[in-house]
Amino acid sequence: MKYYDILIVGAGHAGAQAAISLRQAGFEGAVAMIGDENYPPYERPPLSKEYLAGDKNFDRILIRPASFWEERDIDMLLGNRVTHVDPQAKRVACAGEEVGYGRLIWCAGGSPRMLTCNGADAVNVHGVRRRDDVDAMMAQLDSVNHVTVIGGGYIGLEAAAVLRKFGKKVVLLEALDRVLARVAGEELSHFYENEHRAHGVDLRTGAKMDCIEVKDRRAIAVLMQNGERIKTDMIIAGIGIIPETAPLIAAGAAGTNGVDVDEYCRTSLPDIYAIGDCAAHQNGFARGARIRLESVQNANDQAKTAVSHIMGGEEPYHVVPWFWSNQYDLKLQTVGLSAGYDQTILRGDPRNRSFSVLYLRAGRLIAIDAVNAVKDYVQGRACLLTGAILDQTQLADNNVPLKEVVGAL
Ligand code: FAD
Repeated sequence: MKYYDILIVGAGHAGAQAAISLRQAGFEGAVAMIGDENYPPYERPPLSKEYLAGDKNFDRILIRPASFWEERDIDMLLGNRVTHVDPQAKRVACAGEEVGYGRLIWCAGGSPRMLTCNGADAVNVHGVRRRDDVDAMMAQLDSVNHVTVIGGGYIGLEAAAVLRKFGKKVVLLEALDRVLARVAGEELSHFYENEHRAHGVDLRTGAKMDCIEVKDRRAIAVLMQNGERIKTDMIIAGIGIIPETAPLIAAGAAGTNGVDVDEYCRTSLPDIYAIGDCAAHQNGFARGARIRLESVQNANDQAKTAVSHIMGGEEPYHVVPWFWSNQYDLKLQTVGLSAGYDQTILRGDPRNRSFSVLYLRAGRLIAIDAVNAVKDYVQGRACLLTGAILDQTQLADNNVPLKEVVGAL
């Protein structure tokens, strides 16, 4: 049986950063990464952006060149799915083989939530999570005119923007009454709805689908609950992920939505850490609520926290969350977490396509969505960290840099 001092399950953003940080910290023990995809770790955000658009090929989205892992003496056990974890014997099972570990870092991310209605298994219905999903989509695109995107979250909106660039006719269906409802305020939602419509997307909110009409295993239409039939040549579902934690939960780890971890990213099982999209942690920027964050920032920073703890450190996870999304020529940068806001302030004019939405709770700034407003994003971080009540007239005045609003304290 193979044995590794540190076994990393999941060769994605968090897994890659964990391995990199271990070697940077001088860890000399045996390290391996097990991943069920056939590729070394790559950046996932370009899958709905530059990679889908054909602006970056696969080599350009690798987190490190393939040779890097060998040079750092990190065994890559790719194309292997871990199906069982035995925390007492300290080993995992994958493809009929067992691998022993001293410490396990679980960073298996999530699998795309798929549609469950009739017709959802048609060959031209795609999720957007893995390279293989997007390659399958791209291989069909030439023969596609009408695309239906299900879900008005960031991934669905980004995919819609790329498909419009290709000249495809895009219908985007969002079941709630606005896009980005889970993550942003109304100003931002309505701004993006207008942008997509201006770019020719037939964007519908409050749109409830019933099922998919299939012919010869191909989806040919989306049937709506109101009886409408939307002709389609391809369906893309961007409706969230299900955290990949089943083997850990079966082994007794605590967790309902993801696997619960403490401030050092330890699960309730001995010597098992969990990081990234699958890790439900208590986040100081969410008033201590237990949440999962699905972002590159969280994956990388939790990896650093777990490795630092393995190396004997005692630095709890407390990093300002940030995120970005690119659609058309719009760069959205988000800092902080807006959930629970009771007031918004608009800085700048959305009609100029450069503005920020500031989210406040009890007078304190908790998050900023900055659209083509990089200074607000960068300087807003400092405003957020003060935790002080800031002058709202100044916050709303686009001519007063945010750093001066903090500086005035
Ligand atoms: P992942 O990167 O998903 O890695 C998990 C890996 O584990 C995968 O390779 C998975 O196949 C593998 N795995 C799962 N189960 C097992 C198992 N049992 N055994 C072995 N291997 C397993 N974030 C941003 O901050 N900004 C963005 O603009 C942005 N855009 C995105 C666009 C898309 C299309 C997607 C899909 C995500 C985007 N994200 C973005 C989110 C970001 O990519 C994720 O938060 C990040 O990838 C999480 O890293 P992770 O390591 O937790 O999971």
